[in-house]
Amino acid sequence: MHVGIFADIEGSFGIWRMRQCRMGTREWQYGRACLTKDVNYVIQGAFDGGAEKVTVKDTHEVGFNCLINKLDTRARYIGGHYIKPSLFGKITDLDLVLYVAIHAASGTDGAFFPHTHYGIFSEVRLNGKRVCEMDIYGAYLGELGIPIGFVSGEEIAVKQALEALPWAKSVCVDKRKEIYTSGEKSIRYVKEGRALLQETAREALRHASRMQPLIIPGPLHFEATFRTRQLADKFCL
Ligand SMILES: [Zn+2]
Repeated sequence: MHVGIFADIEGSFGIWRMRQCRMGTREWQYGRACLTKDVNYVIQGAFDGGAEKVTVKDTHEVGFNCLINKLDTRARYIGGHYIKPSLFGKITDLDLVLYVAIHAASGTDGAFFPHTHYGIFSEVRLNGKRVCEMDIYGAYLGELGIPIGFVSGEEIAVKQALEALPWAKSVCVDKRKEIYTSGEKSIRYVKEGRALLQETAREALRHASRMQPLIIPGPLHFEATFRTRQLADKFCL
């Protein structure tokens, strides 16, 4: 089985500030280390569960977030965005995708860094219902016959993802500052959380035959509301 680990960053263990997700900031270097560790535990879990091949696809912003010299060398790494042949590059030979460090949908009150496909939309709807990235990317992968079998991230993000992907295994990650700034307690929380990532990824692989490609039957009515008038003018040429 060829497993794709798709990495965002906002939902990593250890991350509680927006700047830790922003490319080029000092804090982002810490965020990258957090994400890389999360991904490594998921890689280990995938191999524990029987994966023969693992490919990590780095998807946040420009797609160069994982510290490649710290990544488990058994996995192949793809950084940077592809626009061809598909949104995620050449992925048709993947059997299962595990989505690490996701965030909530645009318009989710009180969520950490909520957005849906870049930050330009205040809400994205499919057939009148607000959707998150797992609806959109899940359906995209579903068209190619590839199920998402695992998600990790903030509790509300996981809840939204599981509405679209009820079969997926999941790990919730706390985003409150005090969780990561309380000395030994914090270290223990992160350590246990990453162990859970590994265990849950292994479970996802073991139940791979129950994972389903997400198919949203048409016709599809897609709506996106821009955050500001200026953004709408910029992108609606
Ligand atoms: Zn992101």
